[in-house]
Amino acid sequence: MLPSDLDLDLSELEGRRFTCDPSCGLCCLCQPEVLPHEEEWFRRNHPQRIIVKKRPHRHIALALKGGQGSCTFLGPSRRCEIYGHRPHYCRQFPFHVHLGKRVQVELDLSCRGVWFGGTEDALVEGGRLVHENIDAIRKTLAETREVYREFEANCHDAGIYRPEEALRREVGRRLDMFAELPYLAHVLDLSAEDEEMGMPDGPGGPIDAAELRRSVMEMGLESLAAEDVFSAPVYCDPKCRWNMFLAKDGGLKWAILNDDGTLDAVGDIDPNKIKLLTPEGEGREVFISYLRTLNRRDSMMGYAAYLVDDYGYEDYLSNTYYGVMATTALDLLWRASLIAYLHGGRLDRAGMIEGIISYDMDRLDAPTIGAFL
Ligand code: SF4
Ligand code: SF4
Repeated sequence: MLPSDLDLDLSELEGRRFTCDPSCGLCCLCQPEVLPHEEEWFRRNHPQRIIVKKRPHRHIALALKGGQGSCTFLGPSRRCEIYGHRPHYCRQFPFHVHLGKRVQVELDLSCRGVWFGGTEDALVEGGRLVHENIDAIRKTLAETREVYREFEANCHDAGIYRPEEALRREVGRRLDMFAELPYLAHVLDLSAEDEEMGMPDGPGGPIDAAELRRSVMEMGLESLAAEDVFSAPVYCDPKCRWNMFLAKDGGLKWAILNDDGTLDAVGDIDPNKIKLLTPEGEGREVFISYLRTLNRRDSMMGYAAYLVDDYGYEDYLSNTYYGVMATTALDLLWRASLIAYLHGGRLDRAGMIEGIISYDMDRLDAPTIGAFL
C-alpha cells in the first residue's frame, strides 16, 4: 500500500506491460553503483570484482569485463551470475524514480522489453519499487524540494518564471506539429530571442532546409561524442547486438561490442549521407506519443531548469523549455534517421520505435534539477 501523503506520479506507467528479454543485456552495460548496505556482501564474496569510482561522487561500482565491456557478472547467454544479490540499480531497471518537487516514476524506453507487451504490469512494478524504497525517497525528496524552492525563487527574482503546467499545456496543444521540420525550426528561432516567446500555431516563413539539416546533423553528432568508444552511447538492435557509435572529427565510427568486452569495428559512417527523415504512417503517432511522454516527465522539465540555472537565469524558463522540446524532437529524428540509414529502413512504426530505443537512455542521462533514486 502506497502512502497517501506522498505526491506521486505513476502516469507514465499506466497501461504498459513488459517482459525482460535477457538476451538484450543493455542494462548490464551501465556499471551499477553498489550502495553502502550492499557493499559488505560484495567485499566478502567478490572483492576482486568491485572497484572504487571517483566520479560523479566517490562510490563502489561493479567492475566491467576487461575494464571496458559489460558488467563482470554477466554470464553466458547474458544471464546474471548473482541474480539474487544484484544491486539496487539492476533491480529497478527499466524504471527510474525521479525526485524533484514530487516523486515520478519514468520508464526507460531504451529497454526493448517495454515495447512489445509482456507479463509484468509496469504500474504494479513501479508502485512496488516506490513502496520498497519509501524511506530513501522521503529523505531525498526533502532535499530536492529545497533545490526546487531555491530554483523558483531565483527565477522569480529574475522575472523569468512561468508555471510548469502552463508550459506543458502550451506544448501539449501543438504536439501534432512537432513532426514538421519547418515548425521545429520556427520554435528554435523564437526560443533564441531575448523576448519571451509564445508557442507558435504554425511554421514561420520559408526555412533554409540545407542549413537546418546541417545544424541537426551537428547536434546529432554532438550527442554521440564521447571520450572513447567505450563511453559512447549503445544501441541494442533487434538481434540484440550492442552497436556503439562514436562521433569524432566530424565523422562517425561504428563498432559492435562483444560479450567478452572486445570490440569489432564495423566501419566509418559519413554523416553527410544520413538523410534527415520525418515520421510517416503509424511512425508519426509513435513519435508524437513519445514527445507527449517527455512533456510529462519531470526530468525533462528539470533539464530545462538545469540549463536556466547554468546560464545564470538570463533566459525565460518558457523559451528554454520550448527550445529543449524542439531540440529533442530534432535530435531524436536524426538518431532515428541514422538507425534507418544503417538498416535501409524508414521512420514508419518499427523505424520510429528503433529510434526511440537508441535514444531514450541518453535522454534520461541528461542533467536535471532533482535526483534519480
Ligand atoms: S534493457 Fe530491458 S530487456 Fe534488456 S536486459 Fe535490461 S531489462 Fe531486460
Ligand atoms: S549485477 Fe547482474 S543484472 Fe546487474 S549489471 Fe551485472 S550482470 Fe547485469
